[in-house]
Amino acid sequence: MIWNTHKECMSADEKHNLQSERLRKLVSRVYHATPFYRRKMQEMDITPDDIRSIEDIVKLPFTTKQDFRDNYPYGLFAVPMSEIVRLHASSGTTGKPTVVGYTRRDLSVWSESIARCLSAFGTDRNDIFSVAYGYGLFTGGLGIHYGIEHLGATVIPASSGNTGKQIQLMHDFGSTALACTPSYALYIAETMQKTGIPRSEFRLRTGIFGAEPWTESMRREIENKLGIDAYNIYGLSEVMGPGVSHECACKNGSHIVDDHFYPEIIDPETLKRLPDGEQGELVFTTLSKEGLPLLRYRTKDLCSLHSEACPCGRSSVRMSPIAGRSDDMLIIRGVNVFPSQIESVILDIDELEAHYQLIVERRNKLDNLEIQVEVKEGYYSDEIGKILELKKKVASRLHSVLGLSCDIKLVEPNTLARSEGKAQRVIDKRKY
Ligand code: ADP
Ligand code: ZN
Repeated sequence: MIWNTHKECMSADEKHNLQSERLRKLVSRVYHATPFYRRKMQEMDITPDDIRSIEDIVKLPFTTKQDFRDNYPYGLFAVPMSEIVRLHASSGTTGKPTVVGYTRRDLSVWSESIARCLSAFGTDRNDIFSVAYGYGLFTGGLGIHYGIEHLGATVIPASSGNTGKQIQLMHDFGSTALACTPSYALYIAETMQKTGIPRSEFRLRTGIFGAEPWTESMRREIENKLGIDAYNIYGLSEVMGPGVSHECACKNGSHIVDDHFYPEIIDPETLKRLPDGEQGELVFTTLSKEGLPLLRYRTKDLCSLHSEACPCGRSSVRMSPIAGRSDDMLIIRGVNVFPSQIESVILDIDELEAHYQLIVERRNKLDNLEIQVEVKEGYYSDEIGKILELKKKVASRLHSVLGLSCDIKLVEPNTLARSEGKAQRVIDKRKY
C-alpha cells in the first residue's frame, strides 16, 4: 500500500514546483534565523533572492559535520529553544556526537516519513513491531517507534540488547515485524536457533533493517536464517533520523522522501554535482525542517541516484545501497577497499559465517589487512590441511575482487564479538 499517494506519486512538474517553493522558503528562513548560514551566503555573495527554483540549489553553500562541531551544541538551530520539543544526538561513530533538535512539526514529518516506509514494506495497522534499535539519544529507536504508532500498528519498545528476552517477547507477543540493525538481526537469528523453539511458533514476517551498510548477500543470509522478508531503511540524525529513504516491494534501490529531503550526488574531491547513476557522495537539503534546517549537508555516504520510474508507482528518486562512508574506505598500500566488498566475498563462500572483523596495521612500514572470519560449524576442522586449503580459497577470491593480498585468519564459530547495534567491522591500528 502507498501511505500518501498524493505526495509519493506526484508528477515531475508537481514535484518540481513543490521542491522549488520549499527551497525558496527554506533559504529565506535560514538566512534570517541562523547567523551561520547568513555569513556563509554573504561570503558567497548570494541572497535569498538568488534562489528561485530547485535548480538554483547548486549556488548554495555546503554544510559538513565539522560545521556541527564548530557550532556545538545549538548554533545551527533556526528556532528559539522554546520551539524545540526533542533533542537527539548522532551515535558518534566518527567522533564527537552532533546534537539535533526537532520542533513539534518536525516530529510529525518524521512519523509521516516512517509510516511511508512501513507501508512500502507491506506492513499495516495489523502488524506488531518489535523495535530492537537502541532507545535514547540514538534516533533509531524513538524515530521508528513514533512512526509505527502513526501507522496505527502495535509497537513493542524492546530497545537493543538482552537478546534472549527479545526472542521471548517476539514469541509471546506474536511480533510480525522486527526493526534493528542488520548485524543485530543476524545475532538474533542465531540466538533464536539456539533456543530450540520451532520457527512455526513465531509470527515474524518482515524485517526493517538499517543504520549501517549491508550487502545483498547479508540480506539473503538474514532472510534465510529468520525466514522473513527484509527491507532497507536509511537515514541519519543530522537530516532527521531513520526514514530518509526506504525500499519498496521491488527492492531496486531506496525511495528518498524527496518532498522533504532533496538529494544530490557530488564528487567529493571537486564538489561538482554528478549525473544520475554515477557514484559519489550523497548530499541532502532538508526542504521543510524547522528546528535544524540543513543546506546541502554532506553525508559522507557513497551511493548513486536513479530517477527512472519504479513499478511500485512511487515517483521519488531512488538511491543505491550505501557502498560505505568515505570515512570507512580503507586505503591499503594505495588500494581503496570498502568493508562491503569484503562482506560480499565472505558471504558467497559456503564454509564461512557472516561474522568478520578487519584489522589494519602497519608492519615494517607496510599496511597489512587481516581479515578474521568465522568458519561454519560443520566445516571447522582440526586438520591443518583442510584449513589451509580453505584459507587459500578465501585469499584468492578476495585477491581477485580487491586486487590486494590480505592475511586470512579463520576462527572457530561463535568466537568474534556480536553486535547489538551498529557493528564495528574495522579496527585500524594505524590511527593509534
Ligand atoms: P553516526 O554518523 O554517528 O553513525 P547516525 O546514527 O545518524 O550517526 O548514523 C547515520 C549513518 O548511518 C548514515 O550516515 C550512514 O552512514 C549509516 N546508515 C544509516 N542507515 C543506513 C543504511 N540503511 N545503509 C547503510 N548505511 C546506513
Ligand atoms: Zn518502488
